[in-house]
Amino acid sequence: SNQYINNKVVIIMGASSGIGEATARRLAEDGAKVIISARREDRLKKIAASLSAYEVNYQVADVRVFEDVQSVVKLAMTKYGRVDVLYNNAGIMPLNPLSQLRLDEWRAMLDTNIMGVLNGIAAVLPIMEKQGGGQILATDSVAGHVVEQTSAVYAGTKFAVRAIMEGLRQEEKDQGIRSTIISPGLVDTELYTTVDDAETQAYLKQKAKIDGLGLNPETVANAVAFAINQPAGATVNEVLIRPTKQE
Ligand code: NDP
Repeated sequence: SNQYINNKVVIIMGASSGIGEATARRLAEDGAKVIISARREDRLKKIAASLSAYEVNYQVADVRVFEDVQSVVKLAMTKYGRVDVLYNNAGIMPLNPLSQLRLDEWRAMLDTNIMGVLNGIAAVLPIMEKQGGGQILATDSVAGHVVEQTSAVYAGTKFAVRAIMEGLRQEEKDQGIRSTIISPGLVDTELYTTVDDAETQAYLKQKAKIDGLGLNPETVANAVAFAINQPAGATVNEVLIRPTKQE
């Protein structure tokens, strides 16, 4: 049943494609009031239009900019007067070996994958403390547990997210705030299109071994729905989900 999803006010950052989009569809169908956010307005508009039978609104934001994230939270507060769930899912993954010294990409990953999550936490924490509860989720990764060649910086951001979300759990549990990370292995999304280095692409292809190995984003959305659909006294702290044939 969807009893603990129905009627919840849910904000999803990074909801214009992939896991975030699939999760928006799933939670809307399960009766949540969903606000989707990302940078690409055309995508958000189309997704919201396709879900017009449900309670779905969108607000453009760049997670690297705190005021942008705040504006999404403000929309939820204006419309509904509360935020039950914030899902920090926005992320980028331009994988490369360290020897390429792509400092701009390293900085972009730190800003998006780490500061994006912190901006989300900062924007909702005072509200959730006042409400006496809430749930904050973040998309982590198997890369938050395992480092491989070409993933040093990306894995570094996902290790950091795991640490931050564990700290959040410890500090905010008595305020009724629940901390959840979703840690998928390979998922078939647009994320890999940001890998532009031929050598890295070849390496990933060889590691993945079989084309089409990845999980469907809907399978990950299922895990997110499971983590949200729990009574207030229970917290799913992590869902680690790999394609069966992944290393
Ligand atoms: P997508 O590229 O499809 O989705 C990424 C989302 O993040 C998009 O909605 C994108 O929207 C958004 N985003 C990126 N940068 C920003 C930004 N600065 N501000 C706001 N939104 C931003 O890939 P996935 O669905 O795969 O990725 C979602 C999450 O899952 C990421 O955190 C990723 O690290 C993680 N993950 C993915 C895995 C995979 O194999 N695909 C495995 C493990 C974890 P827009 O460009 O419109 O801003």
